[in-house]
Amino acid sequence: MLRSSLLGAILLFGPTGAAAQSKLKVYLSVDMEGIAGIATAAQTGGSDYEWARPLMLAEANAAIAAAFEAGATEVVVNDAHGSHTNLRADQLDRRATLVTGQPKPYGMVEGLDGSFDAVIFIGYHGHANQVDAVLGHTYSHALRHARINGREVGEYGTAGMIAGHYRVPVVFVSGDRAFAEEAKRFFPGVEALAVKDGIGFTAAKTLHPSVAREKIAAGVKTALARRSQIAPITIATPVIVEVELDIASNADAAMFVPGMERVDGVTVRYRAPDALVAYRVSRLIRMLSRD
Ligand SMILES: [Zn+2]
Repeated sequence: MLRSSLLGAILLFGPTGAAAQSKLKVYLSVDMEGIAGIATAAQTGGSDYEWARPLMLAEANAAIAAAFEAGATEVVVNDAHGSHTNLRADQLDRRATLVTGQPKPYGMVEGLDGSFDAVIFIGYHGHANQVDAVLGHTYSHALRHARINGREVGEYGTAGMIAGHYRVPVVFVSGDRAFAEEAKRFFPGVEALAVKDGIGFTAAKTLHPSVAREKIAAGVKTALARRSQIAPITIATPVIVEVELDIASNADAAMFVPGMERVDGVTVRYRAPDALVAYRVSRLIRMLSRD
C-alpha cells in the first residue's frame, strides 16, 4: 500500500516536477589557446591549425553534452577565437546553436544576455604578459595591459564583465593553469579546470585531450549543479577602461574614439557608463591598433 501510494505520488508529481523545473539556458564561449594539447601559434592559426582545430571542437562538444546531461534546456555556443569560424557547424553537437563569424560587437560574448542562467568559458588563456601563460594575450599583441576599474584583466575579464552586467554567473572555465588561477580570483566560486601547465609562452605540459574532455564534462556538471551558489560578479559603474599599448602610434589611433583620454605615450583611458560600452570600446582599441 505504501509502495503503491509512493508510486502514485511519483506518477503524480514526477512529470509535473520535471516540467516545473525551470529552464536552464547555458552560454558557452570557446577560445583556442587554452585547449588541451595546444601550445603554439602554429596550432592556433598557422601550419598546424587543421590538426589542432578538431581539439577545440571536441572540448566544446564535451561541454555541450555535459550541460544537457546536467539539465540544460538550451545551449548557445559562441566561437571566440581568431576569425570566430573555427568550430565547424556540421560537427557541433546538434542540440546547440552556434554564433559564428566576425566582426560582432560583443565578440567573445556575442548573444549573451540576461535570459541565460550560466556562462562557461572553454579554451581560455591568461592575460598578456602573465608568467607561464600559454599563448597569453589580451585580444592582440598590441595590447600590453588592459585594466577594468584599475584591475588587470585578460579576455576572460572583459567577457566576464558582460556576464556580470546581465547578472549571469560564470560557473565553469577551462584553460591553462595561469588562466585558471586568474579566473578563480576574478570569478569567486567558479569551477576552474587547468588542462595544461605552462612551461613558457609556447610550451606546456598538457593533459591528454580525451582526459581533458572527461574532466571538462565532470566540471561542467558539478558547476551547473551548484550554480545557485556562484554569484555573478559586480562591475562598478562608470567602468574605467585603461589600455597600455605596445607603441605610441597605436595609442594615437585609439585617440580617434571620441571621449578617449591619453594617460601617457602608450596608455589610453575611457570612462564608460556601463560594461556594454566598456566592452565595445575595448574592442575598438584593439581594432584600431596594428600588431
Ligand atoms: Zn583569446
